[in-house]
Amino acid sequence: AARSVTSTFAVHEPSMNDRRAADAAIAEALEGALQRDEFTVLYQPIVDLASGRVVAAEALLRWQHPLHGAVSPATFIPVAERSGEIVGIGRWVLEQAVRQVAAWRAAGADLSVTVNVSPRQLQEPHLARDVLAVLERAGAPAESLVVEVTESAMVDEAVEVAALRRLRSAGVRIAIDDFGTGYSSLQYLTRLPVDILKIDRSFVAQMDGTPEGAAIAEAVIRLAQILRLTTVAEGVETEGQAAELLALGSERGQGYLFSRPVPPEQVSALVARRQDA
Ligand code: C2E
Ligand code: CA
Ligand code: CA
Ligand code: CA
Repeated sequence: AARSVTSTFAVHEPSMNDRRAADAAIAEALEGALQRDEFTVLYQPIVDLASGRVVAAEALLRWQHPLHGAVSPATFIPVAERSGEIVGIGRWVLEQAVRQVAAWRAAGADLSVTVNVSPRQLQEPHLARDVLAVLERAGAPAESLVVEVTESAMVDEAVEVAALRRLRSAGVRIAIDDFGTGYSSLQYLTRLPVDILKIDRSFVAQMDGTPEGAAIAEAVIRLAQILRLTTVAEGVETEGQAAELLALGSERGQGYLFSRPVPPEQVSALVARRQDA
């Protein structure tokens, strides 16, 4: 089985059959990966654009396969969603992230943590109750957690909205990830309980100092202001983008300009450096 995994992981421009074989190989390799300790969580700082202060960090999953090395979450998360493995993996990420935010706060850093939650997890009957139990066990307040959801793959919207409402009424904040890239962004806003809009990095990448380049980012920021939501711009790579986003009124930014996803100690170091400055 290991050999077929090797060959199918590396397929470029796959045909339908190749892709199915690759997915099956990834799905097989994912089984038990959690128990074999193949996952880690990195954290990418989210900064307040006006002050440069780190205010939060996004938990991003990493999979180190014994044979294939690092496998991108963009490759394995969709497979884990289809196979259902995402439920166990996602729960593990949530536990790691919540324990981590409790540790940061115990050490005096006033941070929150954001966790990607897949639609499949939102379908789990006791998700909200489980999340709140994880927070309680770790001694982390609900306000220290942000749940990031995407709008692209709503399975049963009523169930998901109910789960999100329960979380939000307990104090957990909800962010819409990759805002503007899904198929029903605007309608979605009126139905979902939301606190934060994450401006997809494709819109940030289009910002080039011209009004046309900034049009979508600007429109999302205005919309968020009217709805009293916080915006986080994703994929900020240049000082120019950061300055333009701040001028347009986006409160927060995340991207390689500030930091790549890093181990948790490095987030603490970045926070400490800002406090000394
Ligand atoms: P995402 O939630 O949109 O996360 C942001 C992605 O953009 C991350 O990719 C991050 O490393 C990358 N990124 C951050 N700053 C920059 C930048 O300045 N430039 C560029 N080009 N990229 C930047 P990553 O870590 O490879 O994750 C990919 C996707 O996998 C995530 O996209 C998310 O949808 C999914 N994912 C990651 N971890 C989890 C998880 O624990 N659970 C679930 N359900 N999905 C996850
Ligand atoms: Ca995200
Ligand atoms: Ca995103
Ligand atoms: Ca994304």
